[in-house]
Amino acid sequence: MSKMPWFRYYSETSHDKKIDLISEESDLHFLIVHGVWSILLCLANDSPIRGSLYITKNKPFRDSFLAEDLHLSIEDTKKIIECFIEYDMLEIDENSAYKISNWDTRQFQSDNSNERVEKYRNKRKESGLSVAPSYDTKEVCNRYGNACVYCGSSINLVVDHAYPITLGGTDDPDNLVCACKGCNSGKSGRTPEQAGYKFINPIAEDNYKKYLSQNVTVTEAEEVTVTSVSASASLYDSAFVYNELSLKNKIEEFAKLPIPQSPLQANKHPLIALFMAGSDYMPPEKEYKNIIDTFSLIKGRYKDHNEIVDDIKKYSIAWTSRNNKNGEKYKISNLVWFYEWFLNDSIPNKKPYNRHSLDNMIIDNVEQP
Ligand SMILES: [Zn+2]
Repeated sequence: MSKMPWFRYYSETSHDKKIDLISEESDLHFLIVHGVWSILLCLANDSPIRGSLYITKNKPFRDSFLAEDLHLSIEDTKKIIECFIEYDMLEIDENSAYKISNWDTRQFQSDNSNERVEKYRNKRKESGLSVAPSYDTKEVCNRYGNACVYCGSSINLVVDHAYPITLGGTDDPDNLVCACKGCNSGKSGRTPEQAGYKFINPIAEDNYKKYLSQNVTVTEAEEVTVTSVSASASLYDSAFVYNELSLKNKIEEFAKLPIPQSPLQANKHPLIALFMAGSDYMPPEKEYKNIIDTFSLIKGRYKDHNEIVDDIKKYSIAWTSRNNKNGEKYKISNLVWFYEWFLNDSIPNKKPYNRHSLDNMIIDNVEQP
């Protein structure tokens, strides 16, 4: 792993309005907010996944660890982290780790290019494409007027596979567009619809549609159609921004989502989506309540409890095997366990749900179908 012992710190930070607002909102002195922000940047720079807060490649920083590093109480740590998220300075990544917003665009492209290239090559190899791309970046960008087809920026342009390689997209010219690094990394492995991106370049949009109609069929794994995915996917994505108030409304919205026809679309299943959205960075009591609410909202749509349990198992196995994340598998097993626990009102002295009490659970208790 190539580590950079330094990163770019922008002098505008010293008079960033957001820091003042966060100081007001969190009731913490603005120097504390500045200090915390600097330490978070340092931690993100030293992280094995640069730009995100990881202790090891698979282990994200949790609030309790952060509180220690920051010499703050856990309450103050949570408060200030929440504010950074609210002001879009931090994001939550797919492993529920904190991620510095715009790290890649704010840091220099070459800073972590080795890792990027490596990752990109592996992605191509896994998808059966030749490691060396068959296109010329300059030529592709020229074709789209040297501007990002999603935002119009003309800085840091790269080639984006509109239909991503990870979902089976190819180097077909119709699938190649010009995008800025920010849009490209923000989209990361998702279709434009899933990422909530709109084409501002009509030629790119036409080419993409043509590519989809010729290459992406309903028999393919994701069963992606341009329109059906976007609504639930953007709702799903938006829920990953932890915001207590908006999440309350989202639970109801989630519960109304159509149950997907195929387990291959497991992440669109309201239960799975909600569970993934609400877990880990939410205090256990809140998570508990949110999940209970979801179960209550959704149970009317099933014949009986067994049917729900079956569905959770079916969809969660599909989801976890597709994403191949042990951590997620663990969480999903919890979901099944938790649902069974929720049903069984007769358990005497039923203890309140607590994530830590599940630590010794056997994670393979979900059988393969
Ligand atoms: Zn862009």
